[in-house]
Amino acid sequence: MSGTRSASPPVAIVGGGYAGMAAAVTLAAAGRAVHVLEAGRRLGGRARATDLHGLTLDNGQHILIGAYAETLRLIDTVWGTGQDAGRPHPGYLRLPFELSMAGEAPLRAWPLPAPLHLLGGLLGTWTLPLRERLSAVRFIREMQRRRFRLAEDTSVEALLAQHGQGGKIAEVLWAPLCVAALNTPVPSASAQVFLTVLRDGLAGHRTACDLILPRVDLSALFPDRAAQYVAARGGEVSLCAPVRQIHACDGAFRLLCGPQPVTASHVILAVPPYRMAGLAAPLPGMDEAIGRVRALSFEPTYTIYLQYPPSVRLPRPMLGFIGSPVHWLFDRSHTGPHPGLLAAVISARGTHEALDHETLAGLAHREIATHLGGLPQPRWQKVIAEKRATFSCTVGVRRPAQETGLPRLYLAGDYTAGDYPGTLEAAVRSGVQCAHHVLND
Ligand SMILES: Cc1cc2nc3c(=O)[nH]c(=O)nc-3n(C[C@H](O)[C@H](O)[C@H](O)COP(=O)(O)OP(=O)(O)OC[C@H]3O[C@@H](n4cnc5c(N)ncnc54)[C@H](O)[C@@H]3O)c2cc1C
Repeated sequence: MSGTRSASPPVAIVGGGYAGMAAAVTLAAAGRAVHVLEAGRRLGGRARATDLHGLTLDNGQHILIGAYAETLRLIDTVWGTGQDAGRPHPGYLRLPFELSMAGEAPLRAWPLPAPLHLLGGLLGTWTLPLRERLSAVRFIREMQRRRFRLAEDTSVEALLAQHGQGGKIAEVLWAPLCVAALNTPVPSASAQVFLTVLRDGLAGHRTACDLILPRVDLSALFPDRAAQYVAARGGEVSLCAPVRQIHACDGAFRLLCGPQPVTASHVILAVPPYRMAGLAAPLPGMDEAIGRVRALSFEPTYTIYLQYPPSVRLPRPMLGFIGSPVHWLFDRSHTGPHPGLLAAVISARGTHEALDHETLAGLAHREIATHLGGLPQPRWQKVIAEKRATFSCTVGVRRPAQETGLPRLYLAGDYTAGDYPGTLEAAVRSGVQCAHHVLND
């Protein structure tokens, strides 16, 4: 994918995931020449299309929320849908917040201004003891009073205990929200990052807690269109182009990649955290960033696709399970031409990691059958284990900044410094931030 080459050296963006493509779109929109070098055959990185049984699906089920302002803005930019606000988006399904856990009354946002939409919804979840519902409302009000800031970070488990949020409300509400948002178990998850997500998602504008489910695969949702947008503005996007080495020389960079080195004025290193140190180690000024990235640990996310006959359909696109090895179940028929296709998701570390894929798929099928009843055997099943889906968003985790000790080389990615946990929004924000640094240089 390439447009017309510009005479001055481009900004090289190493990695065509959401972070790299967000940087590329921002720079291309500002008229800067960019060259994206992506190692894989497809754009998207940890959020990419994958082919299974003749279907184009994803490497893992993803969900976005209305508070992902930068991601949604850039999706609109590359789809050219900004002016259609209010109309259904062709790329995704946008639903008012609803937390449906099997066997529990759903927590639905009420059509009221924030924060009453959710406080009202919380009070309406009649399967939770009234005392716990009222205590949860008091907890949110108290956090609002403190502007969702803690003097010192602690674990989500400790925060909930301090504010009397144990019991059923922890199981039905707080733990599922924490693990879904931070992909980190409650005992070690950062309470400060969790509060930031609550601030933006639950206590923000009424639509900030909307649930957004892609209607198209994750490469098509943003990175592929971003590549077209960049190419239309003279930029270049190369696939199957792994960068092997980066040299800083005479105020420019040379990237070894393929038969011809690429010369660049700036580098935005937008590779996953576990690839960053290998590329950055030979460069000067990178010690602090490398030290921080080496101290990170990672959490897996498992997606188990189960293809049932088309008659199998959930009333809603998404259902949560409590006390089950499966955390969430998505019915892909609500978002695409996939009747009978369910995607079961298991977030973060756990005993499921020791199981082989066949055993795990069988376990997921039995769990789903227990909750839904009378399920036939799946026609096919496929487990996709992303072992390092995100960094562990633990208490006080120190993430490397986008700016490094080497002028004109920046780091983009969901693991870099920011308010958000390892998510698409964190990735996109970091990419946009790096692009602004380049533009300000
Ligand atoms: C299964 C799963 C489920 C998830 N669910 C959600 C969710 O529901 N909501 C949410 O917001 N987030 C979710 N996430 C997290 C989200 O996918 C990531 O935060 C985001 O995709 C990270 O984007 P990134 O651009 O920072 O990194 P990456 O996506 O890892 O992109 C880095 C890119 O660099 C490329 N690369 C690596 N080395 C080189 C090299 N030497 N040269 C050139 N290119 C190179 C890689 O191929 C890759 O394309 C999930 C992640 C997974 C895996």
